[in-house]
Amino acid sequence: MQSVNDIRRQFLDFFGSRGHELPGSSSLVPQDDPTLLFVNAGMVQFKNYFTGAAKPPYPRAATSQKCVRAGGKHNDLDNVGYTARHLTFFEMLGNFSFGDYFKEGAIDAAWTLITKDFGLPKDKLLVTVYHDDDEAAALWKKIAGLSEDKIIRIATADNFWSMGDTGPCGPCSEIFIDRGDHIWGGPPGSPEQDGDRFLEFWNLVFMQYEQFLDGRPREKLPKPSIDTGMGLERIACVMQGVESVFETDLFRTIIAASEDLTKTKAQGEQAPSFNVIADHLRSSCFLIADGVSPSNEGSGYVLRRIMRRAMRHAHILGAKEPLMYRLAPTLIAEMGNAYPELKRAQPVIEAQLREEEERFRRTLANGLRLLEDELGGLQKGQKLSGRTAFKLYDTFGFPLDLTQDILRGRGLEVDVAEYDAAMQGQKDQGAASWKGADGADNPAIWHSILERTTGNEFLGYGAEAGEGKV
Ligand code: ATP
Ligand code: MG
Ligand code: MG
Ligand code: MG
Repeated sequence: MQSVNDIRRQFLDFFGSRGHELPGSSSLVPQDDPTLLFVNAGMVQFKNYFTGAAKPPYPRAATSQKCVRAGGKHNDLDNVGYTARHLTFFEMLGNFSFGDYFKEGAIDAAWTLITKDFGLPKDKLLVTVYHDDDEAAALWKKIAGLSEDKIIRIATADNFWSMGDTGPCGPCSEIFIDRGDHIWGGPPGSPEQDGDRFLEFWNLVFMQYEQFLDGRPREKLPKPSIDTGMGLERIACVMQGVESVFETDLFRTIIAASEDLTKTKAQGEQAPSFNVIADHLRSSCFLIADGVSPSNEGSGYVLRRIMRRAMRHAHILGAKEPLMYRLAPTLIAEMGNAYPELKRAQPVIEAQLREEEERFRRTLANGLRLLEDELGGLQKGQKLSGRTAFKLYDTFGFPLDLTQDILRGRGLEVDVAEYDAAMQGQKDQGAASWKGADGADNPAIWHSILERTTGNEFLGYGAEAGEGKV
């Protein structure tokens, strides 16, 4: 069996031997890109080559790119633990052509790699193409010998990629594998496609147009380009013959370590908690290694939300002590060779995980008790009061999405409008008190207002009122 580490290596070797530069992953924190919280695809580090803003130093490249999809346009946080294929942190394997080879080269390389080198069964594979992309359909027929019914034409945005309102864009073609009718789900384009039976694992983007503002028609790019992305954990799941990404070797190792530490088995009702912990451990460790710290705004708050979700699951498993920092060494042993930044940051990673978990554990159990009391009084179809959700946030440090995640398991929702109103009310109150203090910029008074209204420690003047105290 090829391990995740073997498969990553094999992918890079394959494209390396086909003339691709192997520049390595970029940081998860995007450089000069205020539109993006975290890098969420392999092409991000090459954006300027695709737009023409910078000249590519090589015509082709391949990478294994660290990606986080836990906010913004691609947000898979709410999928993790509920599907077999979504992670908040994953590695995207990709090959890129900057005006060099195009559709034929990309389809030929992908098909050769998956069927020859990776040995996937041809008769289980199917592809999608954009509905008017006859060229791609013809190439799949010619190169892969796929029959018409295995080349599915899709007219939605799923199969048309664009960088933004302007810039390069073009049709995409995705590769799926049918894993058998013991798994629920239908082929792409069908109403049941959200299931995990037909697993999407590789997206080939054909950048062939440039898009403009003001209704000016798209133009053909003089030198079309290629951008592809294949989830390493998904292809590993297929190659290792397991049902979910959480059963691949790397995840098994992390899950085994949490079984040891919690003296609990990853079975039955407990299993999803192990999966969520393993995923969130990875995103937390990689984000910290790239310089993000848990905080109350921006990317730091996304990290804090991920960490606290994991910590709630550690609590479900009965962990009596902080758990996450004790799992970090296992992850770093597995992934530290491919990503040496993990090894370099190990002390910081462990310290931050531990501190955050100690801090959250001071309020977690009491917050959960309050929530249980409130839920006990709820009738079916009623929503949890937004005031309670706000109190959980404000006094017990429960991010709203954590409360929502807890409720989701029971088919319940939070009254979000009321939550927002409570949040706004507190902001207004904070502003009024502030003015009362002769309008002066007086940190001592500000500090005491925060303590009075929330009972929480003061976390810095940079944080906005109401968002400063989770
Ligand atoms: P899905 O439809 O399953 O959510 P996607 O269409 O959003 O996937 P793309 O944006 O096409 O995914 O990304 C390219 C590839 O990256 C996917 O084909 C998949 O292999 C992988 N990938 C995307 N999102 C995730 C995720 N959350 N976890 C693991 N792998 C992912
Ligand atoms: Mg998606
Ligand atoms: Mg998709
Ligand atoms: Mg896709």
